[in-house]
Parts: sequence; structure tokens; C-alpha cells
Amino acid sequence: MRAIGVHRDVIVVESRVWRTTATVVRSGTEAFLIDSPVFPDELELLPGLLEQAGFPFSGLLATHADWDHLLGRLAFPRSALGVAETTAARLRGHPGEAQRALRDFDERHYLTRPAPLALGSVEALPVPGYCGLGDEELQLQAADGHSVDGMAIWIPWAKVLVCGDYLSPIEIPTPGASIDAYLATLARLEPLVATAEFVVPGHGSPLERPAAKALLREDRAYLEALRAGRARAGELPAGRRDAEQRRLHAANVARLSAAVAP
Ligand SMILES: [Zn+2]
Repeated sequence: MRAIGVHRDVIVVESRVWRTTATVVRSGTEAFLIDSPVFPDELELLPGLLEQAGFPFSGLLATHADWDHLLGRLAFPRSALGVAETTAARLRGHPGEAQRALRDFDERHYLTRPAPLALGSVEALPVPGYCGLGDEELQLQAADGHSVDGMAIWIPWAKVLVCGDYLSPIEIPTPGASIDAYLATLARLEPLVATAEFVVPGHGSPLERPAAKALLREDRAYLEALRAGRARAGELPAGRRDAEQRRLHAANVARLSAAVAP
């Protein structure tokens, strides 16, 4: 697991699997953990890492309900979990889904964990809206399209955007819920990206503004081509063209043709 400081109040850790990111943000005597690393040893290290860095842990947030972002409670078992209203609804509508996906992953990789995942008290946050942290406020923006739910989190005093599964430098867009919603999310994120010092994607390293802006243009072009039936595996964005990205692209095409079939 890698830890990178992108601001005096913001640390990003990157899991060894899928380079899933978790972000710790501090204001005054409070700090939130946004999303989570995946492996048991990485989760176990988090409380010590926060303490050493002087980030007094106070709560959990998750950008969306995909299971690999929801594991914060394994590191901080008594903490409340704040999510967008859309994510709270998805969790309510599919109880046990995250736990089943986690169990499946753990069985496939022969992993054991000290305790099962219990999401505990899930707090639904109004999005768009604000969420207080210490002396400051986080700004919440709807971010759906990859999944049916989710939010991006803007940290105004650090100019850091934690965007969930968008703008990944290592993964092509996966519009699991809707291409149009995904494009609308990119349009909502665009003005934030334009003023961000760093953009933290759900997978891959934090991006400085010029790289994030370029990625947003690439992702929009890919999605528009996908929607028009013009996206080709051989023309995937440079750096995101390997076998796994081609597999994700094939799944995007298959999902789209399933959606338009009678
Ligand atoms: Zn993800």
C-alpha cells in the first residue's frame, strides 16, 4: 500500500489490488476516511497510519456502493458511514450484496479477515450538499453513471477532488448504469477539475490538474464514440489499451447492445 500526501490535510493511500484509493482528509481535530483499501493487512495498517500522521479519525465516507470502496468499517468497526442518499438507497435495496462480493473475492484469493463486514449505521447525506468536517465543509456532488449511485467530494481548502470511479488514469470509463448519466457527471466535475490542485480517482494515482483535464476530454470522447457505436478496442486511450482494458471495453459494448435489444 502506498501513501501520498497531496496537501497538508489530505493523504491518499493506494491498495495493491486495482490500485483502489482511499483518501484521508483532516480539518481541526477531525478526519474522515473516504473509501477504503482492499487487502486485510492494508486495512489493519490504517488506524496507525492516521495516528502517526496526526489525522484524528472521526468518521467514514464512501463515494459509492461498489464493495471495494466500502471496507472502511473493517479498519474502524465502530464508526458511522456517510454516503449519498442514492448510495444509501442502493444499500437498502440490495442488502448483503457488498458482503457477498467481498466473500467471493476473499475465497478466490484465499484471504481471511479478522471479522465479517458490517456496514452498521449508514448515514444518508443530501447530494448536492455539504458535509461538515472540523472547521470546514466538504462539498458533495452527484456522481452517477458508473453505477446508479454515488457522489464526488470536493475539498475546497485543499482544492482536491475525490471523484469515485471516474477519471481513472488506469481504467477506461465503465458506464455500468448509463452513458448519458456518466457524461452528465463528467460535465458536473469539469469546473471542479479546472480549479483542482489534485484529482483523486477511485483507481490509480492522484492526478495534477493538466493530466485530469486531459483525461476528462479522453473519457468524454471515448463515451461519445461508444454511444455512437464507433468505439474500437484498438483505439482505446493510450496507456489504457491492455488486455484487461479491452475486456472492460467489450463489456461496455455488450452492455450497450443488451440495453438497445428489444
Ligand atoms: Zn471501484
